[in-house]
Amino acid sequence: MSLTLALLAATATTAVASPPSSDSVALARVCEGKDGFADPAPPAKVFGNVWYVGTCGVTVLLVTGPQGHILVDAGVEEAVPQVLANIHKLGFNPKDVGLIVSSHEHFDHVGGLAALEKATGARFVATAEAAKVIRSGKVSPADPQAQEIHGSRPARVNGILKTGDVFNVGPLRITAFRTPGHTEGSTSWTWTSCQGTDCRTMTYVDSLTALPLGTYRFADHPDRVAMFRKTFAEVEALQCGILLTPHPSASAMFERMSGAQPMEDSEACKALVASARDRLEKALVK
Ligand SMILES: [Zn+2]
Repeated sequence: MSLTLALLAATATTAVASPPSSDSVALARVCEGKDGFADPAPPAKVFGNVWYVGTCGVTVLLVTGPQGHILVDAGVEEAVPQVLANIHKLGFNPKDVGLIVSSHEHFDHVGGLAALEKATGARFVATAEAAKVIRSGKVSPADPQAQEIHGSRPARVNGILKTGDVFNVGPLRITAFRTPGHTEGSTSWTWTSCQGTDCRTMTYVDSLTALPLGTYRFADHPDRVAMFRKTFAEVEALQCGILLTPHPSASAMFERMSGAQPMEDSEACKALVASARDRLEKALVK
């Protein structure tokens, strides 16, 4: 089904709280069939004060507030000029970003961090495990992908977080919870955003993908498997509200933003875990 037809079908059959913005339809159209980490994407509204400023393949979110903004993830290094341009296009100033947080310490989510820290002057917080990788720029040797992926430009970490920590920029509040597995430092984030009087829980669930590269076998690493299973159980139990993910395709973000699918689905976190669990089980028997 074409995007337009899907959009019409969705509008005809579901009560949409607010119509999708034209910019999110443009984003879905530009990124149709594209998921490159640096494939340029126009900025678009997600919901309320949450804006998509990333690329076709990697999510970067701007959560805006009256006393400064929060940037969620940094994308790849080569996409930094696009992220900054997207923030400007929306009428915001990168210098007003007061806090940057990330999903996990792989180059596609923190490769652009050093440059964005410089451009914004914002503070950055991470788990101790992520901080070690981000400060050194070197992939953890325990990472299932360590044999085949590269590190990233070392970046500054201003504070170490643990589950339940809340970070503020003026009235904006964002809460961290550790969801290790994909990496040791994997972190998910939750906050509330309002569109008029319609307030929703927003949950940015980190990648849950078991991806063994090179000679890595999950069967040889029961600690890592246990780490994944604990995270799966925790994410599955969440009332995630509007689910957001570090790769937009993992949760059909563009389809939901453009109105082709409902923005919120009460089973979304369970469905995300179900496919991740299936992938881990398959990786275990390989
Ligand atoms: Zn990753």
